Amino acid sequence: MDNKCPQCGRSVFVCRNDDNLGLWEADTTICAAQAAVDERRNQEKYKPEPGEMMFARPIDEDLIAGSGLVFKSCKDAYPESNGG
Ligand SMILES: [Zn+2]
Repeated sequence: MDNKCPQCGRSVFVCRNDDNLGLWEADTTICAAQAAVDERRNQEKYKPEPGEMMFARPIDEDLIAGSGLVFKSCKDAYPESNGG
C-alpha cells in the first residue's frame, strides 16, 4: 500500500505523526510557467473561448534556466526554504 500523502507527498507516517505537530511552517514558491497563465487569465479583457485550455509554453527553450536539472529531494525544489 502506498503510504504517500496526496497533500504533501511525504510519508503519512511523517506528516500525520502527532509528534511532528508544530514542526512545520507554511512557505510559498512561484511556478514561473503557471505565473504566465495566471497573468493572462487575470487580464481585465480576457475571455476564454469555448473549450479553451491554456498552458505555458517557453518563449525560447534555450532561455529557460534549470532545464535538465533533477531535484535530489523535494527540498531542492524550494530553494527559498533551504537553510531557513
Ligand atoms: Zn501530508
